Amino acid sequence: MRETYVRLKKRRDLFLKLVRVGIAIAIALLICQFPLDLLETATYDWRLTYKPPTHLTGNIVTVTVDAKTLKGLERDPHASDHNLVLGNLFQASPKAIVYTFNPSEIVGSYDEIQELADVANSRPNLYYAANLLPKRGSESELKLPPPLEHWNVLPAPITSDKNILAKDSVTRRFIYSYEGVPTLHALLAEQFNGKTSSRDYQGLFDFIDTKQGYIDFHAAGTYPNVSFYDLIYSDINQTMFTNKIVFIGKSTLETGKDFIATPFTRDALGMTIPEVHANIVDTLIRDLAPIRLPFFLNVLLTCLASIVTLYVVISLRPTRGLMIILGAICVFALVCFCSFAIFRVWIGMAHPLLATFASYYFFIPYRLIMENRRSWEYFQRNRLLTQVEELKSNFLRMMSHDLKTPLARIQGMVDVLQGDSAQLNHQQVQALENIKASADELINFIGSVLSVSRIESQEIKLQLKSRDLNSLIHDVVKKCEFLAQGKNIQIITEFEPLFSLKIDEDLIRQVLTNLIENAIKYSPENSRIMVSTEEVEGEVIVQVADQGIGVPAEEVSSIFDKFYRSQNVKGLEVKGQGLGLYLSRYFVELHRGRIFVESEPAKGSTFTVRLPMGLET
Ligand code: ADP
Repeated sequence: MRETYVRLKKRRDLFLKLVRVGIAIAIALLICQFPLDLLETATYDWRLTYKPPTHLTGNIVTVTVDAKTLKGLERDPHASDHNLVLGNLFQASPKAIVYTFNPSEIVGSYDEIQELADVANSRPNLYYAANLLPKRGSESELKLPPPLEHWNVLPAPITSDKNILAKDSVTRRFIYSYEGVPTLHALLAEQFNGKTSSRDYQGLFDFIDTKQGYIDFHAAGTYPNVSFYDLIYSDINQTMFTNKIVFIGKSTLETGKDFIATPFTRDALGMTIPEVHANIVDTLIRDLAPIRLPFFLNVLLTCLASIVTLYVVISLRPTRGLMIILGAICVFALVCFCSFAIFRVWIGMAHPLLATFASYYFFIPYRLIMENRRSWEYFQRNRLLTQVEELKSNFLRMMSHDLKTPLARIQGMVDVLQGDSAQLNHQQVQALENIKASADELINFIGSVLSVSRIESQEIKLQLKSRDLNSLIHDVVKKCEFLAQGKNIQIITEFEPLFSLKIDEDLIRQVLTNLIENAIKYSPENSRIMVSTEEVEGEVIVQVADQGIGVPAEEVSSIFDKFYRSQNVKGLEVKGQGLGLYLSRYFVELHRGRIFVESEPAKGSTFTVRLPMGLET
């Protein structure tokens, strides 16, 4: 019955555990349905900003038409200024010169513009990075109006998360190719690293007909920048442009279009356009685009976070659980940061973090409900136990008064009748003896049960008095002699002279009586029992040794338990309730003493009681 109950409970517990894990996974999967791009990119920006910056390739220089240029020229640069600048730059043999604003916006006389067109015609490495992405076959859209129609215009758009992903207008990605056609960035990088295909790069991903990657941004101002004005009027060391890519752009602060927001700063004036191009091309040249983990791994991680949170909330104490969860979040953030800083691997943080919070707030009330239910059950059980306790004490009261009194009367009547035994025949004398033995047994049993109940209600207090233990044992042996004679058992005493000892006489008498009666009960006829005392190192040692049936080795430790009777006595006719040794041990320990047994089955047992000499009240 109990086994079935345990099995059913185990099965129920397992089922409950599975349901909880199922809920944790469901929470995780539900959270994974939401893109959480804003939160994810916030953690991405944090990682990008605080990771140690990667080294620059040193292949890129930017030139900007800045406030200094406008102030120095007292106008926007004209075509003649551009001709001068381009002339200077081409003298240094750069790898490429890239305009990041539309050259057709440059103003100037017909001749000046024509001269600019001639430069474009003769220099195939002069580009315009168009912020356009024409479809295959519509490349003509890129052409500049005459006379600049031969200027090399290639798509090199700068994307920002305006309407998609994080929707925070921050630039994080670059486009490597559109419909398989590489952008200017890809072509420029190829000139340095020789990589011709998107497959040669790490971290690129498909996004609406494009191959894209994340930019390994550096803080604004990292790339060497020369003012457009200085290129005309100052003595710039031209070798700084040799074999470099030169991005020419604007940073006049006249229009916000010349700047973008980067993960380093959400400020709309975060970085100039030429420097963004420099970051993109540098990322490609070094093949350092961050690698985002596939989404399914993110889902797995989210499920794991949810399950761990469930485990912590359900099985640990609330404060400890909270500490562990906070610690786990910190460790997780650290791992994500390090994997990004060292291996460029972008582990999704938003979903696992949100799953942790959601599971925490889901399972905390669940735990409270469970605990509430449990304490209600405890309360009910407690109430039941109190009722049982009341019943028990009523019963014990009944035992002590309603049973003990009539029993004492029976004993008295038997004594009266036995005193007048001359008038009784043999059968009647026998019957009287039986009645007396049964009444004694019942009285003893009632006494034991009452003692147990007193122990359990902790009513027993030691009444210490100085007493000569030898004479106490002598009294007990005398009382037991009648019982021993019935089995022709000889009780031998061997007492060492002792100082008087402080003991509770009634309790120790019960202990000794029990040990000697047991020795008689569990010994064969015609055997001997030895009762001895001695004093060793401040302790009085009393031993009761018999030649009886002994106690099986595996039960030696149990015979002092309540209601325990060893297997080898159960078949015998010897009566007992298994309470005597339980009470004996309790009484001896109340005296700060010890009781133990050494026994060999079929050979005999020796019970030893050690009582301290200097016991005070
Ligand atoms: P009871 O004798 O009433 O059964 P006790 O608590 O006095 O209860 O003893 C518990 C058990 O210890 C006994 O049932 C018996 O199995 C074992 N026992 C006690 N004393 C002896 C002994 N002298 N020899 C053998 N077995 C003993």
